[in-house]
Formats: sequence, C-alpha cells, structure tokens
Amino acid sequence: MQTISVKCKLQVPVELRSEIDRTLQGFADACNQIYGIAKRENCWNTTKLHHLVYKPIRETTGLKANHVCQAIRRVIGNAKTVKQVHKFRPTSLSLDVRTFQYIEDLQTVGVTLMCGRVKFKLSIGNYQLALLKGQSPTAATLNKTKQGDYYINICIDLPTNPAGKTPKVIGVDLGRRDIATTSKGDSWSGKQIQNTRDRYSKVRANVQSKRTRSSRKLLRRLSGREQRFQKWLNHNISKQLVQDAKRINAALAFEDLTNIRESLNQKPIRKVERRRTNNWAFYQLRLFVGYKANIASVRVVFVPPAYTSQTCSRCHHVHPVKGKSYRNGKVFKCGHCGFEHDADINAANNIAALGVTFVNSPEIPGIACQFRWTIVPLSDR
Ligand SMILES: [Zn+2]
Repeated sequence: MQTISVKCKLQVPVELRSEIDRTLQGFADACNQIYGIAKRENCWNTTKLHHLVYKPIRETTGLKANHVCQAIRRVIGNAKTVKQVHKFRPTSLSLDVRTFQYIEDLQTVGVTLMCGRVKFKLSIGNYQLALLKGQSPTAATLNKTKQGDYYINICIDLPTNPAGKTPKVIGVDLGRRDIATTSKGDSWSGKQIQNTRDRYSKVRANVQSKRTRSSRKLLRRLSGREQRFQKWLNHNISKQLVQDAKRINAALAFEDLTNIRESLNQKPIRKVERRRTNNWAFYQLRLFVGYKANIASVRVVFVPPAYTSQTCSRCHHVHPVKGKSYRNGKVFKCGHCGFEHDADINAANNIAALGVTFVNSPEIPGIACQFRWTIVPLSDR
C-alpha cells in the first residue's frame, strides 16, 4: 500500500470561518507550548510527553482531548523530520479518526472543532472522487491558504504494484498533440492526418463558396476520401493497441469524454478539449478498439478525464494556483517533486493509474467498466 493525500477544497459558510480560525489558533498555540516543554525537559517520547503536557495544554488552550493528542504527535513528528523547528502558525490542523470523517454519499466531511463537530461540503472534481471512491480514510489535515481558503488533505491508501497481483493497465491519451499516446510511451502522430485535413479543408472552403452542382459532387468525393483515410488510420491504431494489451495481459484505459461533452457545452471549452470531444474520429477510434478488444478478450475501462493532463503522475500534485499548470506544451515539469516527462505520456500515466482503480473495483456504478460508445452521425461533424 502507498499512502497519498487527496487535496479537497472545503465550502465554508462565512459564520464558520471564525470557528475554524479559532481552532487553528488553539492548535498552533498548543504545538508551540508543547514544543517549548519538550525542549526544556528534553522529552521526545510521545507517551512521556503526553503525561507532561496533556492537562496544562487542555486548560490553557481549551482544545478537545484529541486535538491535544494530535498536537503532541505533530510536535514530535516535526522535531524528527525538521532540523530547526520554527514557530507553529495557525494554518494547519491534524485530524484523526476521532476528529474527522469522510461521508462519501454526501460529499462532505465531518470535522471536530473547538465548538464541536461541524460538517463541510467538498468542492471536488472527478479525479478526487475517483481516488476517494470506497475509501474510509482515518487521517487528514485541515489547511488554510494565504488567500484565506480552506482545504482538507485526506490521506488514503492506494494499492501499489505487487508483481502479478495488480492488474496491468495501459492508459491511452487521445488527441492532444498526437492522435494517441500510451503510458508505455508509444504514440501515433497526428501530423499526417492534420496535414491531409488542412489540405482538404482549404479545397473545401474554395469549393463551398461556389455552391454549384458540380462543387457539391466534389465535396462529397473529398469527404469520402478523408473518411477512408481516417478509418484506415484508426483501424491500424486500434489493432496495435489491442495487440499490445493482449500480449502483456493488460486492460486499456481511456478518458470518458462523453460527460465532458455534455457539461462543457454549458461553458466555454478550451480549443483542444473541443477538438477532442466533438471529433467523431476519436469516437471511431474508441469504437474500433471496443470491438477488437471484445474479440481479443481485452478489457476496456473509462476514467474521469478531470486533471489527467494537469496532475503529476509521480506525486499526484496539481499546480496550486488556479489557471496555472505544470504542463508547458510538450513538457510536464512538476513543481512539487521535480518530475519531468513528456506531457502526453504523463497524462497517459495518470489515465493508467486511474484505470487500475477501476479495474480493481468493478462494482462502481455509473462511471466504470461500461461501454459507453456515443456514435456521432457523420452529418454532425
Ligand atoms: Zn510531482
């Protein structure tokens, strides 16, 4: 098992902000006092320190019993990992199973503050939802940012890859820079097809301005050739994808773009996303993969597409500033752990990792393991 933390934004009603701040302040005060005592008595053992500080700290800070226990752990943990312990600031609160609860059905968390147990709604995307699916986390940290927003970092255990046990999954990223890129590092360039397409669309623009009978005929012939070329290409790509998966006994994971299409149509979509979601060619590719995989008994899963290109596939961090990304064109460079990789392969790796969680839990309703082909009529292209 590997422990990672899932960062979730809290929806905090105005009247509760001061309650959180009061607890954060109490926790920081407790940590600073406990650190002072530990240093003075040269006591770095959790149990012994507990005997020394528990009563006086509860009295001076008014914190709940479990907050004090967590403050002791925080101080000792910090002293072990940091050479020079600085002053504890009121921006972070450690929570355990007695002071924190994740309620999956309601997408809320229960957090014990000095005033008692309070529930907060989470503002999270599909990526976090997928990671938290079916988890009963027992530890979390509540943080306040410089901007005054509140986040909860929920610790969860994910299965790592014990050889032969965890199902292998090849993640396939469609149509960002290339037509398809896999987590194994294979890619099929979109260059050839794009060139062909540009050529056709130029001719088409010319012809369309004329609107005569013969020009309509020419248009039909053009689109026929374009379609045949695309079809040929998709047959080849899908054949290789399925063969590769079959050879190493892996499943194939794709992003589920059907929902993006519905939800994103409400608001402006980035150009790339629009191309990816509205392009029938990608549906055709997934359709071909679908039936070839079916014949070859290769499993295909669909994962939520949120953040797959923004997340570091090594440490799972997303750029903390809204609108900014660790991705820069072809390169992904993580500002948290320094991981540097081809941006499309990084995205494919995230798709593969999410794919593993879906292959592991086939009973997830709604999102996983269904063939959700949407065939877009050619007239809608
Ligand atoms: Zn990283």
